[in-house]
Amino acid sequence: AKSEGRGTYRFFEAKMGAQVRERRLLEHDLRHAVARGEMHLVYQPQTDVRNGSVTGFEVLLRWRHPERGAISPAVFIPIAEESGVILQIGEWVLREACREAATWTNPLTVAVNVSAVQIHAPHFVQLVHESLFRTGLKPERLEIEITETALIRDPSRAQSTLRQLKALGVRIAMDDFGTGYSSVSNLRAYPFDKIKIDGSFIRSVDANEQTAAIVRSMLGLGRGLGLPVLAEGVETDAELRFLAAEDCQAAQGYLMGRPAAIEQFARFTHGNQLK
Ligand code: C2E
Ligand code: CA
Ligand code: CA
Ligand code: CA
Repeated sequence: AKSEGRGTYRFFEAKMGAQVRERRLLEHDLRHAVARGEMHLVYQPQTDVRNGSVTGFEVLLRWRHPERGAISPAVFIPIAEESGVILQIGEWVLREACREAATWTNPLTVAVNVSAVQIHAPHFVQLVHESLFRTGLKPERLEIEITETALIRDPSRAQSTLRQLKALGVRIAMDDFGTGYSSVSNLRAYPFDKIKIDGSFIRSVDANEQTAAIVRSMLGLGRGLGLPVLAEGVETDAELRFLAAEDCQAAQGYLMGRPAAIEQFARFTHGNQLK
């Protein structure tokens, strides 16, 4: 039994070693991914719940690894954050998203995800300013999506950064609302313009009375604070009907559209069709 135990330990050790090596490889490849043209952006529509019109798009990053194929952001974003490569990648995402949105004839919004590392970096506000200035995108068409956990590293610094972004005219959305810490007080402490309810709540809103009660209270909170609320991860008609009945303003999810190349949405960005 003793030798078996040692064997198991060695097995775990070997497996851990493999995971560490795997991570180092991905980290290395990430450093060159933008320059090698392996990254691209997809866009997911955000809609007005009342009339179904498209009001804007969230930008989502995709990595096509030359040997491994598509790697999920859930896998590579944390590695990019821990290694700091997110600064370089995030800069590219922001520039690219502003450049794209500036070409649309319809003044729809573009929502860009920003990590904790970026928010706390010294030149972030300058980078946003530069991206807007170079592309000519109106500041009010850019929305920055930030999770609550991204703010806790250095709250006063994060607060000052968000205020400076607001001063530029950029809008700020609280992402993944309901999943972080002390959500409610953060809504008061930071200058948010919108609340995005995490998709995990929306999925069971039509099936679970407790979840329904939680989502209703989040919508009430938004109303009380005068902040519009967007529901993420809407997949079914029943979920959308619930949101409409509860006066939720905006929605995003596979039901209205999966993330795709922006060309797929030309009727919204350029046409006269908004539904
Ligand atoms: P997120 O910001 O919460 O983005 C929403 C995620 O939900 C996206 O996953 C999207 O594809 C997915 N989604 C949208 N509608 C539905 C739905 O109806 N059902 C389900 N099951 N999922 C839906 P994705 O694209 O894999 O991105 C995962 C996470 O990676 C994002 O979560 C965000 O935190 C991060 N991420 C993606 N792009 C960027 C980026 O450019 N910068 C940074 N810093 N993070 C990014
Ligand atoms: Ca987001
Ligand atoms: Ca989410
Ligand atoms: Ca459901």
